Amino acid sequence: MTEVWLDRGGLGPSWLARDGLLVEAAAPGSATRLDCAGDAALRPGAVNAHTHLYSGLAGFDMPPASPPPRDFTQILERVWWRLDRALDERSLRAAARWAIAEALLAGTTALVDHHESPSFIEGSLDVLADAAEELGARLVVGYGATERNGGREEAARGLAECARFLKTNERSRVTGMVALHASFTVSDETLREAGALAHELGVGLHVHVAEGIADVDDARRRGYPGPLERLLALDALPPRSVIAHGVHLDADQVRCVHDAGGWMVQNPRSNEGNHVGYPRGLRASWHVALGTDGWPADMDAERDALYRLGRAHGEDDAMLEARVAGGWDLFGALTGAHVGAIEAGRPADVVVGRPGAKPRHVIVAGEPVVVDGALVTADLDEVRARAAEEAPRLWARMAELGGDA
Ligand SMILES: [Zn+2]
Repeated sequence: MTEVWLDRGGLGPSWLARDGLLVEAAAPGSATRLDCAGDAALRPGAVNAHTHLYSGLAGFDMPPASPPPRDFTQILERVWWRLDRALDERSLRAAARWAIAEALLAGTTALVDHHESPSFIEGSLDVLADAAEELGARLVVGYGATERNGGREEAARGLAECARFLKTNERSRVTGMVALHASFTVSDETLREAGALAHELGVGLHVHVAEGIADVDDARRRGYPGPLERLLALDALPPRSVIAHGVHLDADQVRCVHDAGGWMVQNPRSNEGNHVGYPRGLRASWHVALGTDGWPADMDAERDALYRLGRAHGEDDAMLEARVAGGWDLFGALTGAHVGAIEAGRPADVVVGRPGAKPRHVIVAGEPVVVDGALVTADLDEVRARAAEEAPRLWARMAELGGDA
C-alpha cells in the first residue's frame, strides 16, 4: 500500500499514513508527499450516518412531482417510491458514483446507506459497494426490505439481499447491515424475520422510525403503542441498530433505543424540507448522529441546519456538537473502523483544508482520494457525464410509472 506523508511544513505535527493508519513522522522517507502547509488544517473525515445513494441523480433536473404532494406520505408516494421503482442497474450505478464523488469532494469519507430499488433487488448492494471501492469511500449498506410493492415475497427478497451481501462481501471499506424500510410498510412476520436475521448475522438493523405520524398511526392500528414498541415486541432492535429520524418519539422512547445499544440519526435538512417536525426526544440520548437522508453529503451544511433548527427548539450547543461528532462513534461501532481523530494508530481518514472551505486533500484509509481539490480515484467528468446520461432515462421511467404509486 502507498505511504502518504501529510507535510505540515512545521505548522504542527506531520503525519505518515502507513497501512491505512496514522503515524506521527517528521520526514517522508519514501512516502508520497502531500503539501498540507499554508493555511490548511487537518481534521478527520466526516460521517454521513443515514443516506440514500439511490437518489444521487436528483440534482440532475428531476421533474417536480405532479400533482404536487400535500403531505409527507404523498412525497414518498409521488417522488421517492416512484424513483426507487424506476431504478435499474445502470441508473443505480450512475447515482451511487455521483453521490459518493460529491461526498468525498465535500470531505465526507464514510457513509451509512439505506437502499431500495424494487425492480433491481438481487445484486443491488454490490453495485453500491463497488462504487464505494472504486472511488475510495467507506460505506455501510443494507437493503431496506418492504412489502409495499410485492408483499411478503418482496420483503423476503430484500432480506435475502442483505444476507447474501453480508455473507459474501470481502471488500475492505464496505460492510453490511440488515435493513427495513419502515414499520408501516411491513407485516409482523417480516419485522420478526428481519430481527432474527440481524441477530443471526451479528449486525444491527437500519430502519426509518416515526419519521412521519403515519408510521405511528399504523403501529397503533396494528395494536402496538408505536413503531418502536413494535420493533421491541418482535425482537427486531438488536444492538448497534440505526434508527433514522424518530421525529415522533418521546424522550423515554429514545432512551429505550439507547439502552438497547442503538443509535438515532437526525436528518435536519430532510426533516425541515418534508415538514415532518423537529425530533425533540433525541435530547434523551448521547448516541445520536447526523445524516443527510439523501441530500448531498455536505456535513458542514447539515451541521449548520442542525444548529439553526436545534437552537430554535431550545437545544444546547454541547448536545448539538455531540451529534456532529456522533457519526464517528456510530461508524466505529458498526464497522470497527474507529475514525474521528487525528491521532497515532487511528485510521488515516483525513481532510486537509480550512473549515468551511472545500477540502484541499482528502485521504481515506491512507489513500489519497482528493488531491488539490480534484478527485483522483475516478474521472469526475466521466462520473458526471454518466449521471447526466442516466438521469433523463430515469425521469422517463418515473413518468411511465405514473399515478399508480
Ligand atoms: Zn431515509
